[in-house]
Amino acid sequence: MPALALAHRVTRVTPSMTLAIAAKAKAMKAEGLPVCSFSAGEPDFDTPDHIKAAAKAALDQGKTRYGPAAGEPALRQAIANKLQRENGLRYGPENVIVTNGGKHSLYGLIMALIEAGDEVIIPAPYWVSYPEMVTLAGGTPVIVPTTAEQNYRITPEQLRQAITPKTKLFVLNSPSNPTGMVYSPAEIQALAEVIVEADIWVVSDEIYEKILYDGATHLSVGAVSAAAFERTIISNGFAKGYSMTGWRVGYLAGPVELIKAVSTIQSHSTSNVCTFAQYGAIAALEGPQDCIDTMGRAFAERRQVIIDRCRRISGLSCGEPEGAFYLYIDIQPLGLSSLEFCTRLIDEKYVAAIPGIAFGAEGTIRLSYATDMDTILEGMDRLESFVNAL
Ligand SMILES: *Cc1c(COP(=O)(O)O)cnc(C)c1O
Repeated sequence: MPALALAHRVTRVTPSMTLAIAAKAKAMKAEGLPVCSFSAGEPDFDTPDHIKAAAKAALDQGKTRYGPAAGEPALRQAIANKLQRENGLRYGPENVIVTNGGKHSLYGLIMALIEAGDEVIIPAPYWVSYPEMVTLAGGTPVIVPTTAEQNYRITPEQLRQAITPKTKLFVLNSPSNPTGMVYSPAEIQALAEVIVEADIWVVSDEIYEKILYDGATHLSVGAVSAAAFERTIISNGFAKGYSMTGWRVGYLAGPVELIKAVSTIQSHSTSNVCTFAQYGAIAALEGPQDCIDTMGRAFAERRQVIIDRCRRISGLSCGEPEGAFYLYIDIQPLGLSSLEFCTRLIDEKYVAAIPGIAFGAEGTIRLSYATDMDTILEGMDRLESFVNAL
């Protein structure tokens, strides 16, 4: 066997810690241990029936062959219609590419846009894959830390200060994974002004746009002005809003030249997204939307319980997430590193949480409440006894 000299690019990135902890929790469960998992970043609901029915019908109609690399024309059109109707973004189907989930839409974008010497501004706490994708592309992630006091929102001033002549892209994620925060329309407008003034690209990861609480609203940065629209790339998908994580359908929308470039990359790597899955996605966009409300009500109920329980535990503090399905907790007063905290929590109490260090923010942990109420109640009991014993 020849010496295994891995390519430099892969030695510079680490595997996803969230997937690793979720896998550890699953393995412990399979061994019969009573695990309460707050680690998974996925809704626990089944995909709505009308979406499954559309994919089944597509299978029966023989939608089982290769399709265009950029996606089924009918789905690209449906996505363009959605972006116009719901987000006020004037895109046509040629501005849209269907990708293998929202993760791969970001990957395709970064591969098409970023190269050595380019800086990409990423506010922390961030979704684990953003900096690693930039590193894989040979670019430089520029991490801008935010604090609980500022509600984990980057300020226009912080953004302005992070911009250099090498800045090419700013990554905006609202509602946020891991913090659950949502930028207000006024905050989005203020960030858009900086983006336009500095003439940089912004990618808006809007995968949680449909999961909002307490009257929070989602404004796409591209809808702020014509100048902001020209600099905006939208990344989105079906996984979170429609409980379709395993389907692997997402999309990217932006200028035609960029979409063509991402399509070229896709044509040499994954080819088209699973053809019949795309017909399920069409049904998701064009069918009844009450499933969103049903899931939203369940999330809202769990959110209130987990916030209340967290606030009863001395040494922990948390804000109120306005979107997504994560509770982001400050554990700094306890004096343990986030990794030590989460490792001991799973080993001693069989409770899985994600350490903030995975999101570039020490002294914090993330709990996903996309799980059933019994798990939330039992898991929070154990978390409380764990913290009290420290
Ligand atoms: C889940 C997630 C995605 C994409 O998920 P896919 O399953 O690939 O569609 C993208 N961004 C964030 C912030 C996420 O949490």
